[in-house]
Amino acid sequence: MNQSIDFKNKEVLVLGGGISGLSTAWLLNHLGAKPTIIEKEEDYGGIGRTHYLDGQKYEFGPHILHAEHDHTIRFYEKYGAREIEYYTRMAFGDSFEKLIDFPYSVDSIFQLPLELGREVIKELFEERNGEIDQTNLETYLRSIVGNTLYENFNDGYSRKFWGKEPKDIPANGAASWISLRTDDKRLFQSWQAYPNGDFNKFMEWVRGETPIIKQEVLGVKRAKSKIDAVITNGPELSADIYISTIPLKSIFPEIRRDLSYAGNVLVAMKLEEGPVFPHGVGGIYNPGEKFAFKRVCEYPSMTEENYPELKNGTLIGFEYNTFPWKESLPQEFYIQDSLRASKELLGVEPQSYRLHSHPHIYPIRDKKEMKMYSNITKEVSKYDNFFLNGRYGNFRYTNMNDCFEMSFDLIRDLSGLTTDELIRETGL
Ligand SMILES: Cc1cc2nc3c(=O)[nH]c(=O)nc-3n(C[C@H](O)[C@H](O)[C@H](O)COP(=O)(O)OP(=O)(O)OC[C@H]3O[C@@H](n4cnc5c(N)ncnc54)[C@H](O)[C@@H]3O)c2cc1C
Repeated sequence: MNQSIDFKNKEVLVLGGGISGLSTAWLLNHLGAKPTIIEKEEDYGGIGRTHYLDGQKYEFGPHILHAEHDHTIRFYEKYGAREIEYYTRMAFGDSFEKLIDFPYSVDSIFQLPLELGREVIKELFEERNGEIDQTNLETYLRSIVGNTLYENFNDGYSRKFWGKEPKDIPANGAASWISLRTDDKRLFQSWQAYPNGDFNKFMEWVRGETPIIKQEVLGVKRAKSKIDAVITNGPELSADIYISTIPLKSIFPEIRRDLSYAGNVLVAMKLEEGPVFPHGVGGIYNPGEKFAFKRVCEYPSMTEENYPELKNGTLIGFEYNTFPWKESLPQEFYIQDSLRASKELLGVEPQSYRLHSHPHIYPIRDKKEMKMYSNITKEVSKYDNFFLNGRYGNFRYTNMNDCFEMSFDLIRDLSGLTTDELIRETGL
Protein backbone atom coordinates (compact mmCIF):
# COMPACT_ATOMS: atom_id res chain seq x y z
CA MET A 1 0.00 0.00 0.00
CA ASN A 2 1.82 3.08 -1.23
CA GLN A 3 -0.76 5.82 -1.14
CA SER A 4 -2.70 6.88 1.93
CA ILE A 5 -6.45 6.85 1.72
CA ASP A 6 -8.45 9.90 2.70
CA PHE A 7 -11.44 8.08 4.17
CA LYS A 8 -13.71 11.13 4.36
CA ASN A 9 -17.01 10.27 2.61
CA LYS A 10 -15.56 7.04 1.21
CA GLU A 11 -17.99 4.14 0.86
CA VAL A 12 -16.45 1.10 2.55
CA LEU A 13 -17.92 -2.39 2.53
CA VAL A 14 -16.81 -4.34 5.58
CA LEU A 15 -17.28 -8.10 5.11
CA GLY A 16 -18.25 -9.80 8.37
CA GLY A 17 -19.98 -8.43 11.47
CA GLY A 18 -17.82 -9.93 14.25
CA ILE A 19 -15.79 -7.65 16.52
CA SER A 20 -13.15 -7.25 13.78
CA GLY A 21 -15.69 -5.93 11.27
CA LEU A 22 -17.56 -3.87 13.84
CA SER A 23 -14.42 -2.23 15.23
CA THR A 24 -13.21 -1.48 11.69
CA ALA A 25 -16.52 0.28 11.03
CA TRP A 26 -16.29 2.14 14.36
CA LEU A 27 -12.88 3.56 13.44
CA LEU A 28 -14.00 4.40 9.89
CA ASN A 29 -17.06 6.25 11.18
CA HIS A 30 -14.73 8.41 13.27
CA LEU A 31 -12.75 9.29 10.14
CA GLY A 32 -15.89 10.43 8.30
CA ALA A 33 -16.13 7.37 6.05
CA LYS A 34 -19.41 5.62 5.19
CA PRO A 35 -18.96 1.99 6.18
CA THR A 36 -21.59 -0.72 5.60
CA ILE A 37 -21.24 -4.22 7.06
CA ILE A 38 -22.25 -7.39 5.18
CA GLU A 39 -23.12 -10.20 7.60
CA LYS A 40 -24.55 -13.60 6.70
CA GLU A 41 -26.17 -14.36 10.06
CA GLU A 42 -29.33 -12.88 11.54
CA ASP A 43 -27.31 -11.59 14.51
CA TYR A 44 -24.00 -9.79 14.33
CA GLY A 45 -21.13 -10.24 16.82
CA GLY A 46 -19.72 -13.49 15.37
CA ILE A 47 -18.10 -15.87 17.86
CA GLY A 48 -18.05 -13.05 20.41
CA ARG A 49 -21.82 -13.06 20.95
CA THR A 50 -23.23 -13.75 24.40
CA HIS A 51 -25.75 -16.62 24.45
CA TYR A 52 -28.60 -17.39 26.81
CA LEU A 53 -29.73 -20.54 28.60
CA ASP A 54 -32.88 -20.41 30.73
CA GLY A 55 -32.67 -16.63 30.50
CA GLN A 56 -29.10 -16.58 31.87
CA LYS A 57 -26.11 -15.49 29.85
CA TYR A 58 -23.01 -17.45 29.01
CA GLU A 59 -20.20 -17.10 26.50
CA PHE A 60 -19.08 -19.38 23.70
CA GLY A 61 -16.19 -17.12 22.81
CA PRO A 62 -14.76 -14.29 24.86
CA HIS A 63 -15.15 -14.44 28.57
CA ILE A 64 -12.97 -11.50 29.43
CA LEU A 65 -11.61 -8.36 27.76
CA HIS A 66 -7.87 -7.94 27.90
CA ALA A 67 -5.86 -4.96 26.74
CA GLU A 68 -2.30 -3.99 26.20
CA HIS A 69 -2.43 -0.41 24.97
CA ASP A 70 -4.03 2.57 26.67
CA HIS A 71 -6.08 3.42 23.59
CA THR A 72 -7.62 -0.08 23.65
CA ILE A 73 -8.49 0.26 27.34
CA ARG A 74 -10.05 3.66 26.56
CA PHE A 75 -12.10 2.07 23.75
CA TYR A 76 -13.58 -0.43 26.21
CA GLU A 77 -14.00 2.21 28.91
CA LYS A 78 -15.80 4.56 26.51
CA TYR A 79 -18.50 1.89 26.35
CA GLY A 80 -18.23 0.88 29.99
CA ALA A 81 -16.27 -2.05 31.34
CA ARG A 82 -15.68 -3.24 34.85
CA GLU A 83 -12.19 -4.36 35.76
CA ILE A 84 -12.20 -7.78 37.32
CA GLU A 85 -9.77 -10.08 39.05
CA TYR A 86 -10.08 -13.68 38.20
CA TYR A 87 -7.55 -16.35 37.43
CA THR A 88 -7.45 -19.72 35.79
CA ARG A 89 -6.22 -22.80 37.62
CA MET A 90 -5.01 -26.23 36.63
CA ALA A 91 -6.49 -29.32 38.28
CA PHE A 92 -4.42 -32.19 39.58
CA GLY A 93 -5.20 -35.24 37.45
CA ASP A 94 -8.82 -36.29 37.69
CA SER A 95 -9.88 -34.36 40.76
CA PHE A 96 -10.85 -30.76 41.45
CA GLU A 97 -9.76 -31.02 45.08
CA LYS A 98 -6.34 -29.54 44.47
CA LEU A 99 -5.73 -26.67 42.07
CA ILE A 100 -2.63 -24.72 41.14
CA ASP A 101 -2.19 -21.39 39.36
CA PHE A 102 -1.88 -21.93 35.64
CA PRO A 103 -0.10 -20.58 33.61
CA TYR A 104 2.54 -21.36 36.23
CA SER A 105 3.78 -18.75 38.62
CA VAL A 106 6.00 -19.04 41.69
CA ASP A 107 2.75 -19.39 43.65
CA SER A 108 1.96 -22.61 41.76
CA ILE A 109 4.95 -24.29 43.40
CA PHE A 110 3.71 -23.38 46.88
CA GLN A 111 0.25 -24.76 46.05
CA LEU A 112 1.72 -28.21 45.39
CA PRO A 113 1.89 -30.86 48.12
CA LEU A 114 5.19 -30.39 49.96
CA GLU A 115 6.97 -33.40 48.49
CA LEU A 116 6.02 -32.51 44.96
CA GLY A 117 6.92 -28.86 45.49
CA ARG A 118 10.40 -29.90 46.68
CA GLU A 119 10.83 -32.06 43.59
CA VAL A 120 9.79 -29.20 41.31
CA ILE A 121 12.21 -26.78 42.95
CA LYS A 122 15.01 -29.33 42.65
CA GLU A 123 14.29 -29.81 38.98
CA LEU A 124 13.92 -26.12 38.26
CA PHE A 125 16.85 -24.81 40.22
CA GLU A 126 19.25 -27.64 40.89
CA GLU A 127 19.08 -30.08 38.02
CA ARG A 128 18.32 -27.85 35.11
CA ASN A 129 21.43 -27.33 33.04
CA GLY A 130 19.99 -24.44 31.08
CA GLU A 131 19.76 -26.29 27.76
CA ILE A 132 16.38 -26.21 26.08
CA ASP A 133 15.78 -29.40 24.12
CA GLN A 134 14.00 -28.45 20.90
CA THR A 135 13.48 -32.02 19.62
CA ASN A 136 9.70 -31.95 20.10
CA LEU A 137 7.04 -30.34 22.29
CA GLU A 138 7.51 -32.89 25.07
CA THR A 139 11.30 -32.51 25.31
CA TYR A 140 10.91 -28.77 25.01
CA LEU A 141 8.41 -28.49 27.87
CA ARG A 142 10.29 -30.97 30.05
CA SER A 143 13.46 -28.96 29.66
CA ILE A 144 11.65 -25.77 30.61
CA VAL A 145 9.37 -26.80 33.49
CA GLY A 146 11.01 -30.07 34.62
CA ASN A 147 9.59 -33.60 34.67
CA THR A 148 7.25 -33.27 37.66
CA LEU A 149 5.30 -30.28 36.41
CA TYR A 150 5.32 -31.70 32.91
CA GLU A 151 3.99 -35.13 33.90
CA ASN A 152 1.33 -33.84 36.27
CA PHE A 153 0.02 -30.96 34.23
CA ASN A 154 1.41 -30.33 30.75
CA ASP A 155 1.38 -33.81 29.30
CA GLY A 156 -2.39 -34.47 29.54
CA TYR A 157 -3.32 -30.92 28.71
CA SER A 158 -1.10 -30.86 25.59
CA ARG A 159 -2.81 -34.00 24.29
CA LYS A 160 -6.22 -32.42 24.79
CA PHE A 161 -5.16 -29.21 23.24
CA TRP A 162 -3.37 -30.50 20.16
CA GLY A 163 -5.10 -33.85 19.70
CA LYS A 164 -1.70 -35.51 19.14
CA GLU A 165 1.10 -37.00 21.19
CA PRO A 166 3.31 -34.14 22.45
CA LYS A 167 6.34 -35.96 21.01
CA ASP A 168 4.71 -35.72 17.55
CA ILE A 169 4.37 -31.95 17.80
CA PRO A 170 7.28 -29.71 16.80
CA ALA A 171 9.12 -28.10 19.72
CA ASN A 172 7.87 -24.72 18.72
CA GLY A 173 4.49 -26.31 17.95
CA ALA A 174 2.61 -23.82 20.01
CA ALA A 175 4.22 -21.05 18.03
CA SER A 176 4.22 -22.29 14.48
CA TRP A 177 1.85 -25.15 14.17
CA ILE A 178 -1.33 -23.92 15.72
CA SER A 179 -0.82 -20.28 16.53
CA LEU A 180 -2.18 -20.11 19.98
CA ARG A 181 -1.41 -17.69 22.73
CA THR A 182 2.24 -17.52 21.95
CA ASP A 183 2.29 -13.90 20.99
CA ASP A 184 -0.64 -13.30 23.31
CA LYS A 185 0.69 -11.19 26.12
CA ARG A 186 -2.53 -11.27 28.07
CA LEU A 187 -1.26 -13.84 30.51
CA PHE A 188 1.21 -11.29 31.74
CA GLN A 189 -1.07 -8.29 31.77
CA SER A 190 -3.04 -6.93 34.60
CA TRP A 191 -5.98 -5.26 32.81
CA GLN A 192 -8.91 -7.64 32.56
CA ALA A 193 -12.50 -6.50 32.35
CA TYR A 194 -16.04 -7.48 31.44
CA PRO A 195 -18.23 -5.18 29.37
CA ASN A 196 -21.18 -3.73 31.26
CA GLY A 197 -24.33 -5.71 30.49
CA ASP A 198 -22.81 -8.32 28.22
CA PHE A 199 -20.91 -8.74 24.97
CA ASN A 200 -24.07 -8.28 22.86
CA LYS A 201 -24.67 -4.83 24.32
CA PHE A 202 -21.02 -3.99 23.80
CA MET A 203 -21.25 -5.10 20.14
CA GLU A 204 -24.38 -2.97 19.73
CA TRP A 205 -22.45 0.06 20.95
CA VAL A 206 -19.49 -0.69 18.65
CA ARG A 207 -21.87 -0.99 15.70
CA GLY A 208 -23.53 2.38 16.45
CA GLU A 209 -25.41 3.57 13.37
CA THR A 210 -23.47 1.45 10.87
CA PRO A 211 -25.90 -0.18 8.41
CA ILE A 212 -25.74 -3.98 8.28
CA ILE A 213 -26.87 -5.84 5.16
CA LYS A 214 -27.84 -9.44 5.81
CA GLN A 215 -26.32 -11.25 2.85
CA GLU A 216 -23.74 -13.98 2.41
CA VAL A 217 -20.56 -13.13 0.53
CA LEU A 218 -19.84 -15.71 -2.19
CA GLY A 219 -16.92 -14.08 -3.97
CA VAL A 220 -15.58 -10.85 -5.43
CA LYS A 221 -15.63 -9.39 -8.95
CA ARG A 222 -12.08 -8.62 -9.96
CA ALA A 223 -10.80 -6.05 -12.43
CA LYS A 224 -7.08 -5.63 -13.17
CA SER A 225 -6.03 -3.84 -9.99
CA LYS A 226 -9.36 -3.28 -8.31
CA ILE A 227 -12.24 -5.16 -6.81
CA ASP A 228 -15.40 -4.02 -8.60
CA ALA A 229 -18.07 -5.63 -6.45
CA VAL A 230 -18.89 -8.27 -3.89
CA ILE A 231 -20.90 -11.24 -5.16
CA THR A 232 -23.48 -12.36 -2.63
CA ASN A 233 -26.52 -14.59 -2.36
CA GLY A 234 -28.49 -11.39 -3.00
CA PRO A 235 -27.70 -8.43 -5.22
CA GLU A 236 -24.06 -7.53 -5.93
CA LEU A 237 -22.70 -4.80 -3.71
CA SER A 238 -20.03 -2.27 -4.55
CA ALA A 239 -18.07 0.44 -2.79
CA ASP A 240 -14.85 2.45 -3.00
CA ILE A 241 -13.01 0.19 -0.58
CA TYR A 242 -13.50 -3.37 0.74
CA ILE A 243 -12.21 -4.73 4.06
CA SER A 244 -12.73 -8.43 4.66
CA THR A 245 -12.84 -10.23 8.03
CA ILE A 246 -14.47 -13.47 6.73
CA PRO A 247 -13.02 -16.87 5.73
CA LEU A 248 -10.77 -16.50 2.70
CA LYS A 249 -12.52 -19.16 0.65
CA SER A 250 -15.69 -17.05 0.74
CA ILE A 251 -13.80 -14.32 -1.11
CA PHE A 252 -11.76 -16.46 -3.48
CA PRO A 253 -13.94 -19.50 -4.19
CA GLU A 254 -11.36 -20.77 -6.70
CA ILE A 255 -9.04 -21.86 -3.87
CA ARG A 256 -9.36 -25.60 -3.47
CA ARG A 257 -10.25 -25.64 0.19
CA ASP A 258 -10.42 -23.39 3.20
CA LEU A 259 -7.35 -22.94 5.38
CA SER A 260 -7.13 -25.54 8.14
CA TYR A 261 -8.34 -24.93 11.70
CA ALA A 262 -8.86 -26.81 14.95
CA GLY A 263 -12.30 -26.20 16.38
CA ASN A 264 -14.05 -25.76 19.68
CA VAL A 265 -17.07 -27.43 21.28
CA LEU A 266 -18.74 -25.93 24.31
CA VAL A 267 -21.35 -27.58 26.51
CA ALA A 268 -22.97 -24.82 28.55
CA MET A 269 -24.90 -25.84 31.67
CA LYS A 270 -27.18 -24.15 34.13
CA LEU A 271 -26.60 -25.73 37.55
CA GLU A 272 -29.06 -25.67 40.42
CA GLU A 273 -26.42 -24.82 42.99
CA GLY A 274 -23.45 -22.52 42.86
CA PRO A 275 -21.00 -20.90 42.71
CA VAL A 276 -19.05 -24.10 42.29
CA PHE A 277 -15.52 -22.69 41.94
CA PRO A 278 -13.46 -21.07 44.68
CA HIS A 279 -13.78 -17.28 44.75
CA GLY A 280 -11.64 -15.56 42.08
CA VAL A 281 -11.33 -18.65 39.90
CA GLY A 282 -12.88 -18.25 36.47
CA GLY A 283 -11.69 -21.35 34.67
CA ILE A 284 -10.08 -24.68 35.50
CA TYR A 285 -7.88 -26.57 33.03
CA ASN A 286 -8.17 -30.34 33.12
CA PRO A 287 -5.10 -32.47 32.33
CA GLY A 288 -6.74 -35.69 33.64
CA GLU A 289 -7.75 -38.68 31.56
CA LYS A 290 -11.10 -39.47 33.11
CA PHE A 291 -12.90 -36.61 31.39
CA ALA A 292 -12.27 -35.35 27.87
CA PHE A 293 -12.92 -31.63 28.41
CA LYS A 294 -9.87 -29.35 28.39
CA ARG A 295 -11.26 -26.47 30.46
CA VAL A 296 -14.40 -25.58 32.36
CA CYS A 297 -15.37 -21.96 33.04
CA GLU A 298 -17.82 -20.55 35.54
CA TYR A 299 -19.24 -17.32 34.14
CA PRO A 300 -20.89 -15.79 37.22
CA SER A 301 -17.82 -16.40 39.36
CA MET A 302 -15.91 -14.10 37.01
CA THR A 303 -18.62 -11.54 36.68
CA GLU A 304 -21.03 -11.84 39.59
CA GLU A 305 -22.35 -8.31 39.15
CA ASN A 306 -23.53 -9.24 35.67
CA TYR A 307 -25.92 -11.81 37.07
CA PRO A 308 -28.20 -9.79 39.35
CA GLU A 309 -31.16 -11.98 38.41
CA LEU A 310 -29.36 -15.25 39.14
CA LYS A 311 -30.62 -15.97 42.66
CA ASN A 312 -29.55 -19.60 42.94
CA GLY A 313 -27.28 -21.74 40.91
CA THR A 314 -24.67 -20.91 38.34
CA LEU A 315 -23.66 -21.23 34.67
CA ILE A 316 -20.66 -23.22 33.54
CA GLY A 317 -19.21 -24.22 30.18
CA PHE A 318 -17.12 -27.30 29.38
CA GLU A 319 -14.74 -26.76 26.45
CA TYR A 320 -13.27 -29.33 24.06
CA ASN A 321 -10.96 -28.94 21.09
CA THR A 322 -11.74 -30.70 17.80
CA PHE A 323 -9.16 -31.48 15.14
CA PRO A 324 -9.31 -31.71 11.36
CA TRP A 325 -7.07 -34.82 11.48
CA LYS A 326 -9.44 -36.70 13.80
CA GLU A 327 -12.80 -38.20 13.10
CA SER A 328 -15.56 -36.04 14.55
CA LEU A 329 -17.31 -37.40 17.62
CA PRO A 330 -21.10 -37.37 18.02
CA GLN A 331 -22.54 -34.47 20.04
CA GLU A 332 -23.75 -37.01 22.59
CA PHE A 333 -20.11 -37.77 23.51
CA TYR A 334 -19.49 -34.17 24.65
CA ILE A 335 -22.82 -33.96 26.43
CA GLN A 336 -22.27 -37.20 28.36
CA ASP A 337 -18.69 -36.23 29.30
CA SER A 338 -19.87 -32.86 30.66
CA LEU A 339 -22.85 -34.34 32.49
CA ARG A 340 -20.59 -36.85 34.20
CA ALA A 341 -17.99 -34.21 35.04
CA SER A 342 -20.53 -31.80 36.53
CA LYS A 343 -21.81 -34.57 38.76
CA GLU A 344 -18.50 -36.18 39.75
CA LEU A 345 -16.20 -33.17 39.90
CA LEU A 346 -18.57 -30.44 40.98
CA GLY A 347 -21.23 -32.53 42.69
CA VAL A 348 -24.10 -30.69 41.00
CA GLU A 349 -26.77 -31.83 38.53
CA PRO A 350 -27.49 -29.52 35.60
CA GLN A 351 -30.99 -28.08 35.15
CA SER A 352 -30.42 -27.58 31.44
CA TYR A 353 -27.62 -27.62 28.90
CA ARG A 354 -26.81 -26.64 25.34
CA LEU A 355 -24.01 -27.53 22.93
CA HIS A 356 -22.26 -25.11 20.54
CA SER A 357 -19.53 -25.94 18.12
CA HIS A 358 -17.39 -24.03 15.67
CA PRO A 359 -14.85 -25.87 13.51
CA HIS A 360 -12.73 -22.80 12.67
CA ILE A 361 -11.12 -21.44 15.80
CA TYR A 362 -7.39 -22.24 16.04
CA PRO A 363 -5.47 -21.88 12.77
CA ILE A 364 -3.09 -24.73 11.93
CA ARG A 365 -0.09 -22.73 10.91
CA ASP A 366 2.12 -25.43 9.48
CA LYS A 367 4.29 -24.88 6.42
CA LYS A 368 1.63 -26.07 3.98
CA GLU A 369 -1.10 -23.80 5.32
CA MET A 370 1.23 -20.80 5.62
CA LYS A 371 2.23 -21.25 1.96
CA MET A 372 -1.43 -21.29 0.96
CA TYR A 373 -2.07 -18.21 3.07
CA SER A 374 0.88 -16.43 1.52
CA ASN A 375 -0.46 -17.19 -1.99
CA ILE A 376 -3.79 -15.68 -1.03
CA THR A 377 -2.19 -12.52 0.39
CA LYS A 378 -0.17 -12.22 -2.83
CA GLU A 379 -3.43 -12.31 -4.79
CA VAL A 380 -4.98 -9.72 -2.45
CA SER A 381 -2.02 -7.38 -2.85
CA LYS A 382 -2.88 -7.01 -6.58
CA TYR A 383 -5.97 -5.00 -5.68
CA ASP A 384 -5.60 -1.42 -4.47
CA ASN A 385 -8.99 -1.24 -2.82
CA PHE A 386 -9.22 -4.59 -1.01
CA PHE A 387 -7.75 -5.39 2.42
CA LEU A 388 -7.78 -8.28 4.90
CA ASN A 389 -8.42 -7.94 8.61
CA GLY A 390 -9.51 -9.94 11.66
CA ARG A 391 -8.79 -13.49 12.75
CA TYR A 392 -9.64 -14.89 9.32
CA GLY A 393 -7.87 -12.22 7.30
CA ASN A 394 -4.67 -12.57 9.33
CA PHE A 395 -4.94 -16.37 9.76
CA ARG A 396 -4.03 -16.19 13.45
CA TYR A 397 -5.64 -17.02 16.73
CA THR A 398 -6.90 -13.78 18.20
CA ASN A 399 -8.60 -12.48 21.27
CA MET A 400 -10.88 -9.41 21.15
CA ASN A 401 -7.93 -7.20 22.03
CA ASP A 402 -6.01 -8.47 19.00
CA CYS A 403 -9.08 -7.90 16.83
CA PHE A 404 -9.47 -4.29 17.94
CA GLU A 405 -5.74 -3.62 17.65
CA MET A 406 -5.53 -5.18 14.19
CA SER A 407 -8.41 -2.93 13.07
CA PHE A 408 -6.72 0.09 14.63
CA ASP A 409 -3.36 -0.67 12.99
CA LEU A 410 -4.95 -1.38 9.59
CA ILE A 411 -6.93 1.88 9.51
CA ARG A 412 -3.92 3.82 10.82
CA ASP A 413 -1.68 2.42 8.09
CA LEU A 414 -4.24 2.84 5.31
CA SER A 415 -5.03 6.42 6.31
CA GLY A 416 -1.36 7.33 6.68
CA LEU A 417 -2.04 8.74 10.16
CA THR A 418 0.29 8.18 13.10
CA THR A 419 -0.92 6.29 16.15
CA ASP A 420 -1.30 9.58 18.06
CA GLU A 421 -3.20 11.19 15.20
CA LEU A 422 -5.65 8.29 14.97
CA ILE A 423 -6.08 8.36 18.75
CA ARG A 424 -6.95 12.08 18.45
CA GLU A 425 -9.31 11.61 15.49
CA THR A 426 -11.21 8.82 17.24
CA GLY A 427 -11.28 10.46 20.65
CA LEU A 428 -9.43 7.54 22.21
C1 LIG B 1 -13.69 -20.76 23.45
C2 LIG B 1 -13.23 -19.36 23.14
C3 LIG B 1 -12.83 -18.55 24.19
C4 LIG B 1 -12.41 -17.24 23.92
N1 LIG B 1 -12.05 -16.45 24.97
C5 LIG B 1 -11.72 -15.17 24.76
C6 LIG B 1 -11.45 -14.30 25.86
O1 LIG B 1 -11.53 -14.69 27.03
N2 LIG B 1 -11.14 -13.01 25.59
C7 LIG B 1 -11.07 -12.54 24.33
O2 LIG B 1 -10.79 -11.35 24.17
N3 LIG B 1 -11.33 -13.33 23.25
C8 LIG B 1 -11.65 -14.63 23.45
N4 LIG B 1 -11.94 -15.44 22.37
C9 LIG B 1 -11.68 -14.95 20.99
C10 LIG B 1 -12.71 -13.98 20.43
O3 LIG B 1 -14.01 -14.50 20.61
C11 LIG B 1 -12.41 -13.78 18.93
O4 LIG B 1 -11.07 -13.39 18.75
C12 LIG B 1 -13.25 -12.71 18.24
O5 LIG B 1 -14.60 -12.80 18.64
C13 LIG B 1 -13.10 -12.88 16.72
O6 LIG B 1 -13.79 -11.89 16.03
P1 LIG B 1 -13.75 -11.77 14.42
O7 LIG B 1 -14.64 -10.64 14.07
O8 LIG B 1 -12.35 -11.71 13.90
O9 LIG B 1 -14.33 -13.16 13.89
P2 LIG B 1 -15.81 -13.75 13.97
O10 LIG B 1 -16.39 -13.43 15.31
O11 LIG B 1 -15.74 -15.15 13.54
O12 LIG B 1 -16.63 -12.87 12.90
C14 LIG B 1 -16.70 -13.19 11.54
C15 LIG B 1 -18.10 -12.78 11.07
O13 LIG B 1 -18.18 -12.95 9.66
C16 LIG B 1 -19.42 -13.55 9.34
N5 LIG B 1 -19.23 -14.27 8.07
C17 LIG B 1 -18.51 -15.39 7.83
N6 LIG B 1 -18.57 -15.75 6.55
C18 LIG B 1 -19.34 -14.83 5.92
C19 LIG B 1 -19.77 -14.66 4.58
N7 LIG B 1 -19.41 -15.49 3.61
N8 LIG B 1 -20.57 -13.58 4.30
C20 LIG B 1 -20.95 -12.71 5.27
N9 LIG B 1 -20.56 -12.85 6.56
C21 LIG B 1 -19.77 -13.88 6.88
C22 LIG B 1 -19.69 -14.50 10.50
O14 LIG B 1 -21.07 -14.83 10.58
C23 LIG B 1 -19.20 -13.64 11.68
O15 LIG B 1 -20.23 -12.83 12.20
C24 LIG B 1 -12.39 -16.76 22.59
C25 LIG B 1 -12.80 -17.58 21.53
C26 LIG B 1 -13.24 -18.88 21.80
C27 LIG B 1 -13.71 -19.72 20.68
